[in-house]
Amino acid sequence: MKVPQPSALQYSALQLAWLQELGIEKPWLPSEQVAAKKSNPPLAVTAVTHAPTRVPLRPSGVTPSRPAVRAASASQSAAELVMDTNALAASAHDLTTLAKQIAGCTACGLCRGRQQAVPGEGIMQPSIMVIGEAPEALDDREGRPFVDRPGLMLDNMLTAIQSSRAHNVYVSNMVKCRPPGNRNPKPIELQACKPFLMRQIELVRPFSILAVGRAAQSLLETQEPLDQLRQVTHSLTVVGQKIPLIVTYHPALLLNHPGEKAAVWQDLQLLKTVSGMS
Ligand code: SF4
Repeated sequence: MKVPQPSALQYSALQLAWLQELGIEKPWLPSEQVAAKKSNPPLAVTAVTHAPTRVPLRPSGVTPSRPAVRAASASQSAAELVMDTNALAASAHDLTTLAKQIAGCTACGLCRGRQQAVPGEGIMQPSIMVIGEAPEALDDREGRPFVDRPGLMLDNMLTAIQSSRAHNVYVSNMVKCRPPGNRNPKPIELQACKPFLMRQIELVRPFSILAVGRAAQSLLETQEPLDQLRQVTHSLTVVGQKIPLIVTYHPALLLNHPGEKAAVWQDLQLLKTVSGMS
């Protein structure tokens, strides 16, 4: 697939109008312009900024030939884990390289139980980037996100707003390796893997983000319940770029609680509006 260059980024008039309404004058500037861009006023009710902390892994003046990756140990601190994955993520200049680095990553204990790492898939510069929490069993076997039963539900949700991962969506997770027994990822695992997600967002350049389930609380760095985060336009700032973020329930919840589909439908309508699709 041919990836459009930053200078060729195109947005519809409706999308640009919505961005201006939200206080975003220029979406996804080329990287050299992002560095020089002045900060804008807050976009919405909540805005969370993620700027990778690039801490040198060696004393200054000593240049490693390649980024260091160490296997996690019980004594390893969260800060040390973030240092390793930050260096790896920062050195990836495209999604293919990032996927290879994720596949070889041993920065947290989840590497020990995976069959395959699950980096993400979909369209570059999508209208929507869906972010879940962690791969499921079938995702782990196939190395693709959201292909298990919740993934089928997600595809149905996207179809309801005339969207799909083949057309205008990119799909990923907070952690790229499946936690054993589908347990929740631990905070140290989320922290270790976050630089990969932030770099992925930077490379994918989504117009909007749909955070499903507990991924919303991780991304927004809050403990507020999901029902209080829903129906609000949040924003996530990645390397100076504010991206509208909408929260909804995880598609897995809908499998057991189909009555929540009405609430998810409301969230999808808000997502459509925010991403200029309605
Ligand atoms: S979950 Fe993320 S940080 Fe942990 S081993 Fe997998 S890729 Fe590395």
